[in-house]
Amino acid sequence: MINQTAAAMSEALVKGEVTSTQLTQAHLDRISDVDTSVKAFLHVDAEGALAQAARVDADRSSGKKLHPLAGIPLALKDVLTQDGIPTTAGSKILQGWKPQYDSTVVSKIKEAGIVILGKTNMDEFAMGSSTENSAYGPTFNPWDLSRTPGGSSGGSAAAVSAFEAPLAIGSDTGGSIRQPAALTGIVGVRPTYGAVSRYGLIAYSSSLDQAGPFGRTVLDTALLHDVMAGHDPKDATSINGKFPDVVSAAQKRDVKGLKIGVIKQLQGEGYQKGVQARFDESLQVLASLGAEIIEVDCPSFEYALAAYYLIAPSECSSNLARFDAMRYGLRVGDSDGASAEAVMSATRNAGFGHEVKRRIILGAYALSSGYYDAYYGSAQKIRTLIIQDYAKAFAQADVLVSPTAPTTAFKIGEKSNDPIAMYLGDVATIPVNLAGICGMSLPAGLADEDGLPVGFQIMAPAMCDDRLYNVGGALEAALASQWGGHLISKAPALGGSK
Ligand code: GLN
Repeated sequence: MINQTAAAMSEALVKGEVTSTQLTQAHLDRISDVDTSVKAFLHVDAEGALAQAARVDADRSSGKKLHPLAGIPLALKDVLTQDGIPTTAGSKILQGWKPQYDSTVVSKIKEAGIVILGKTNMDEFAMGSSTENSAYGPTFNPWDLSRTPGGSSGGSAAAVSAFEAPLAIGSDTGGSIRQPAALTGIVGVRPTYGAVSRYGLIAYSSSLDQAGPFGRTVLDTALLHDVMAGHDPKDATSINGKFPDVVSAAQKRDVKGLKIGVIKQLQGEGYQKGVQARFDESLQVLASLGAEIIEVDCPSFEYALAAYYLIAPSECSSNLARFDAMRYGLRVGDSDGASAEAVMSATRNAGFGHEVKRRIILGAYALSSGYYDAYYGSAQKIRTLIIQDYAKAFAQADVLVSPTAPTTAFKIGEKSNDPIAMYLGDVATIPVNLAGICGMSLPAGLADEDGLPVGFQIMAPAMCDDRLYNVGGALEAALASQWGGHLISKAPALGGSK
């Protein structure tokens, strides 16, 4: 039962073939079976999940009209607040903190009757591309336990890939949904900036952060996206407008006459052979379905990584100032006579990990009065150039595409001592965040050299998220008929019940 899609589980629930309690219990059993080796979860809320499942079952038997995802289990990245449930953002500094409110995303999923199984592991404050920066130890890739699942939403991606949950939520500041989706062979979407409320999403870089859905199929991902998106007066950057119908788009699967732009700068040199090969094949599939493939030039993308690694640390140095030992979680050195400054300093020193400290220092420096124009100001100018490159490219093409990540999943420890090598993994995903547009990663097959999943990235203009689902749905269906099923059906079983 746990290896089905969320859409199929929903049908089984509606037909009364299974109850939400059974479905939830089956996933909790799977977590007990495999999570000692995958380590996707930081906190499993079995009691809360079963209580929610029982409520949905009771509502269903009383004939109440329910949302299609009511009763379906979900894994939640530990960066979103959930009332009364430990929330750490992967950091020691928040250890033991239980928020007193739900983030808007959590309110929406609760309202839909979705069952939250627990909180998933992540790079500390979402800073990283491998989930190795978590203060609670790494998550392991279900396809090969010696490798990372990518990051920073590695726990959520691994949970879906290991059949511990059919759906999950992550956040994507520079690629943290799309890159782990690619590395674990599932679908992940970073919605348009402002489409999903950031209220209760612990801030890393506010102008780039956006929560989004993971699923094992394009349709499952659309069903969850639909629940998450919408205007929220509690978030000043939330879009108040008409949201595209992503669920219909996921089932439309019609790319005839669509123009698909391949970004010249995001392929070739630096991309693993097997990644490039699966990407090229997917392009041929789209062409065979009637799409027109063109090449587009985005010259400013060369500077995207450099601009991102100034803007994101700058915003983080300001956002993380709130962890001051007074308001949340950890407090260190609070002895008689210790000054507030000494306690703050000792707490921040003990509570933050290396990567977070590196970024706070870098960001504070880039924002300092003598260097502001040279660093932060220049980075913002690059951001404008990237937005202009996209505008020109979208004048020629309906969607743009690239490989999601330059490589397949890398070994645990391979890049953890080399931040620049780690940052380079984001080269293809970061431009989307800088421009505030939307992007999807879906499985394009397995690389010949290592047998690991490859991600295909689709990008669309702001508030055109439906285009991602239309093109993604069409490609997914064509590839599944070639492979005789979805890629995820080839994932190793990891023992335990399936
Ligand atoms: N890997 C990028 C970073 O470390 C992106 C992280 C993210 O999207 N949260 O900043």
